[in-house]
Amino acid sequence: MHTVLILGAGFGGLELAACLSESLADEARVVLVDQNDSFTFGFSKIDILFRDRPPESVRIPYRDLTRPGVEFRQETVTSIDPRTRRVVTDRSEYEPDTLVVALGADYDQAATPGFVEDGHEFYSIEGACRLRDRLNAFTGGTVLLSILSVPFKCPPAPYEGALLLHDELVRRGLRDTTRMHVITPMDSPVPVSPGTNTALTGAMAERGIEYTTGTRVRSLDPHAHTAATHAGELGYDLFIGIPKHTVPRVVEASGLTEGGTDGWIHVDPATLATPYPGVYAVGDCADAPVARAGVFAENAARTVASGIVAALHGTPPPEKYRGRGSCYIEFGNGLVGKVDADFLSGPAPVAPFFGPSVELAAEKKQFAADRHKRWFGG
Ligand SMILES: Cc1cc2nc3c(=O)[nH]c(=O)nc-3n(C[C@H](O)[C@H](O)[C@H](O)COP(=O)(O)OP(=O)(O)OC[C@H]3O[C@@H](n4cnc5c(N)ncnc54)[C@H](O)[C@@H]3O)c2cc1C
Repeated sequence: MHTVLILGAGFGGLELAACLSESLADEARVVLVDQNDSFTFGFSKIDILFRDRPPESVRIPYRDLTRPGVEFRQETVTSIDPRTRRVVTDRSEYEPDTLVVALGADYDQAATPGFVEDGHEFYSIEGACRLRDRLNAFTGGTVLLSILSVPFKCPPAPYEGALLLHDELVRRGLRDTTRMHVITPMDSPVPVSPGTNTALTGAMAERGIEYTTGTRVRSLDPHAHTAATHAGELGYDLFIGIPKHTVPRVVEASGLTEGGTDGWIHVDPATLATPYPGVYAVGDCADAPVARAGVFAENAARTVASGIVAALHGTPPPEKYRGRGSCYIEFGNGLVGKVDADFLSGPAPVAPFFGPSVELAAEKKQFAADRHKRWFGG
């Protein structure tokens, strides 16, 4: 039987396992490995931060995974040899026929000096819990929210954080005594989507949230509570940063990033194949020219699944990867917008925007429920 080893049971790994279970349940053995015992949607961190959701309530345990032909193993990957496809974990060793690396992105918080000591983030569950507690004790002052490095997951997420924080401060009667300032090294929130940019910058302006582009915070002074930029020092009472993203250390040590853009795994953007036979990479860890978001990891996983099926069945190669996906954007007050991105079908990316509404808020809930059902088979 053909064996497929999927490293990482996030958006990409779970979608790939579901596709292979549907197409090859009797012809392939699919082993899905993750260091955690449960999956959490990226956007659940926003629920932890602003909606009083305890982390346990947003975790979906992998023991619920009942997809035919898929074995889940909770193991930590400690080494990957892409030449031989040999993978070592803390509990086992594998040499699959096909290897798919879907290990996502890690955060390098130490890359911004002073950030570990004096900054907060909401991109990890632990960070969201810590920031929630800090916000509970916050009594007003200056909040800086800064994107520390590019690329990062879910380009609209920092702006969702700012808009929801505004609502929270209004609710607690602290908005009038709080200055909010969003700082980014980019020129706009979502460069491929002018409509999204107009909506997000407009929403921030309406709420009195200052917005500075083309500016990178290089370091924090934890004693003075100042952030250093090329334009000078900015004082803050609360600093929230989107930390620098990197490939997980085990990926870097594997050599898979050689030839990749900016330290990410080099893939053929049409097929997600790496230069090593039988080895693919999908999602945040790969250098496909798309935004880092779950929906693109999912779209990439579908392309890889059809490539594996075509190779096994000797059928024509699948349609090339399009880098397509719909991202939902929280605007506060229960309203959600949507951007439908297509990065690779045409000569340039297109990403029309759909304005915030309660209908789209319901659609986002359904999006999560559909994935839960599809991936876990429940
Ligand atoms: C606040 C926030 C909001 C977001 N909102 C959205 C949104 O609305 N829509 C959207 O599409 N995306 C959103 N995202 C982004 C989305 O969560 C990620 O882009 C997506 O999860 C990437 O999928 P992936 O499969 O590449 O990686 P991941 O989903 O991160 O999965 C990688 C997996 O690999 C595992 N792993 C890592 N190293 C090892 C190891 N050594 N051994 C074993 N396992 C390991 C991890 O435990 C993890 O489960 C958001 C992210 C954040 C932080």
